[in-house]
Amino acid sequence: MSVPHYSLYINGEWVDTGENYEIRSPATEELVATVAKGGVAQVDQAVAAAKAAHEEGTWRRTPPAQRAALLNDVATRLGGRIDELAALQTRENGATIRITGALHIGLSIAQMQYLADQAATYEFETAGPEIGPVPAEGLVRREPLGVVAAIVPWNIPLLVIVWKIAPALAAGNTVVLKPDEHAPLVALELAKEFEAAGLPPGVLNVVTGDGEPTGAYLSGHPDVRKVAFTGSTAVGKSILRQSADTVKRVTLELGGKGPNIILDSADLDTAIDGALFAALANNGQACEAGTRLLIPSSNRDEIVSRLVERARTLKVGDPLDPATGVGPIISKVQHQRILDYFAIAETEGAKAVIGGGVPTGPGFDKGYWIEPTIFVGVTNDARIAREEVFGPVLVVLTYDSVEEAIKIANDTDYGLSAGVWGDEDQAIEIARELDAGMVWINDWHVIHPAYPFGGFKQSGLGREGGPHALDEYTEAKFISLNRSPGPEARAFAIVID
Ligand code: NAD
Repeated sequence: MSVPHYSLYINGEWVDTGENYEIRSPATEELVATVAKGGVAQVDQAVAAAKAAHEEGTWRRTPPAQRAALLNDVATRLGGRIDELAALQTRENGATIRITGALHIGLSIAQMQYLADQAATYEFETAGPEIGPVPAEGLVRREPLGVVAAIVPWNIPLLVIVWKIAPALAAGNTVVLKPDEHAPLVALELAKEFEAAGLPPGVLNVVTGDGEPTGAYLSGHPDVRKVAFTGSTAVGKSILRQSADTVKRVTLELGGKGPNIILDSADLDTAIDGALFAALANNGQACEAGTRLLIPSSNRDEIVSRLVERARTLKVGDPLDPATGVGPIISKVQHQRILDYFAIAETEGAKAVIGGGVPTGPGFDKGYWIEPTIFVGVTNDARIAREEVFGPVLVVLTYDSVEEAIKIANDTDYGLSAGVWGDEDQAIEIARELDAGMVWINDWHVIHPAYPFGGFKQSGLGREGGPHALDEYTEAKFISLNRSPGPEARAFAIVID
């Protein structure tokens, strides 16, 4: 079978750049596709196309209901391709087929439909109250910003793309999307659906390429009015610094080190399954993962042994097999980074009660594999408990009182996700004290279109999804209307008799 080739999408055209690179499966290292590699020149072309489309104005003047209809059309088109796109996503980034179907593709469609509904009902122009003492009134308009740059990672690409480009397009902006270099294929499939749905040229552009120089050049481009970024905290900070020069709007979805608290009142069977789900979903490569498990020291031994027993039952292997729970790591670089963390953990005195290495045997001779790993024996000041590993790795910490559990949970630079297992009333009390953008009670990874996603502290800036998603992609404009009968009644009188 011939290997598919993907081009860049700029100003309504599919363009090549003279330089191609390969996308290989992280599970088998097989060639999945070749992709044209974008650079600075393509960013310039794409930003110019997006700027011209914004200035020409067809899209921003398209009635919101029609913009909503186009988004719904794209959602329907994706809905007809769920199995195909889920398989492509799995082959591209190694996420297991169970999660790519339900979460990566399925939830992205639901998110797009939700944002389309918002576009149809959003108050783009509202009348304000009378402005005393003169009889003046005002209108408040929400205007699109102009060119939005969306820069995304490889781990859950379609969802983080939809979180950015759907509200941006719903609000009438134009977009330049830079997918991650490891996982651009589903993004380019999405662009094909926008083209088929009739989005005008230049309104959505997709430029592939590396973080440096392509991403950095795009995020710093003077004609970009907003950068919507998901990725590492380090890159997020550099984007924020760079944005100061042109006072760009910025939303950031960054890393996390989610604390997951099991209370004495928890049903242990559920909480243990939940703790593994929190840590290992998407092969542990999820910013909102629950990577610090806080358990009562009085019940430490029982909880740890039951965790290990349950973790042994998980199937690690071929991500295209529906029975698989944990698949590979995205790349050789990321694989080595996790192994480096294992070495750090060892020097810190941590003990792996399960895993801690690379699986061996049939199916593991190619690709990038890490055993699901649970560390005990460290406190919250260890690097393995503070830094984001981004792999199937859970650190167990103990607490002696609920107050101490809250203190440990909040003792982190991050603040994306948290969870509490046990009596709901007590868990809600604890949730109120946690510094996190999402707190899940007796659950984890609940990402719902109608609820905001984002983090406190160094986990980000702004929120994605939720009822106010379009606010992040519009600028408020006050239009004042002076309806006074004559000059004497106007505020002019302060200066002009
Ligand atoms: P990364 O920051 O290296 O890359 C993310 C994107 O930014 C890629 O498209 C990359 O090409 C681009 N990029 C890299 N350097 C850049 C630069 N200097 N300027 C502009 N763009 C640049 O992150 P990653 O390693 O690919 O992804 C993993 C990280 O993303 C983890 O830390 C994870 O927590 C985070 N993440 C966060 C969320 C969230 O919603 N909070 C979701 C997924 C992933």
